[in-house]
Amino acid sequence: MKSFLLSIVLVNSLLSFDYKLQPEEVSKDVYCFFGLPEVMDEHNNGNMSNSCFVNLGNSYLVIDSGPTYQYAAQAYKKMKNLKNLPVSYVVDTHIHDDHWLGNSYYVTLGAKIIGSKAFKELPILDQTRMQRRISPEAYKGTTQIFPTIFVNKEKVLEINGKKVYIKSVNHKAHTNSDLYVYIPSEKIVFVGDLVFNQRLPSLRDGDINGWLEALKQIKKMSVTYIVGGHGTNIDKKAVDFTYNYLKTLKDEVKKRLEDGEDIADVVNDVKMKKYKDIPFYDSIQRQNVETTYRMLEWEDE
Ligand SMILES: [Zn+2]
Repeated sequence: MKSFLLSIVLVNSLLSFDYKLQPEEVSKDVYCFFGLPEVMDEHNNGNMSNSCFVNLGNSYLVIDSGPTYQYAAQAYKKMKNLKNLPVSYVVDTHIHDDHWLGNSYYVTLGAKIIGSKAFKELPILDQTRMQRRISPEAYKGTTQIFPTIFVNKEKVLEINGKKVYIKSVNHKAHTNSDLYVYIPSEKIVFVGDLVFNQRLPSLRDGDINGWLEALKQIKKMSVTYIVGGHGTNIDKKAVDFTYNYLKTLKDEVKKRLEDGEDIADVVNDVKMKKYKDIPFYDSIQRQNVETTYRMLEWEDE
């Protein structure tokens, strides 16, 4: 009997992964699970982006559902420990899969999923990037569930007397699908990957001018909390790291472009040493410089 029970425990542990999620209080009704400043791999199994929830009195609003079905299921267990409420809505801040593959769990609770209209163009993949990089045990149960409610410019929800504004950036910034969620009663805005902290942002799918423009708008908002997609800084100054990095990157590349330096030299020269100890510097600094060069070069013509 004992060995039978032991083997059940073993099989179960092989079939799932414990993310060890701990909700951290942002304000009275807002909590986040903060991801690690790492690339997705078989150790963190995608726990490298932020997923937050807001207690709206009679239900939870979830902002970004996390990297897998199991992550979301484990997150909801923790949410229920705080207060046993259903989830009315999930907002996907953009199309990167570390932020929305958890949708596949929340739809089983009857939650409605809201996202950018850019999701309509997103293909269902044979294998997602997340799936290729994390363990099959952690990915188990995950399917590609897209939003069914789309935001064009702005969508306003009124839940239990609280207004939730979901705004589309409406131009390419971090991606072509960026939304942010503003809740005036909580003095908070959730901005997805428009804001990174404690790691360098990636420009791979973005536009440096559009991104800086979006951040300028966010800086003007009258809020106490700004919660990004990566990193634990959530005060008003949370924007500054990403803004300053992108602004310096743009200025340095632009100066060299105007001096007639070619792309290979610029990629080698724009080191921005201040950032060299920040996670992801070694893997994406050169790529960010190259992407910026190509964008600004195009702009010049
Ligand atoms: Zn992203």
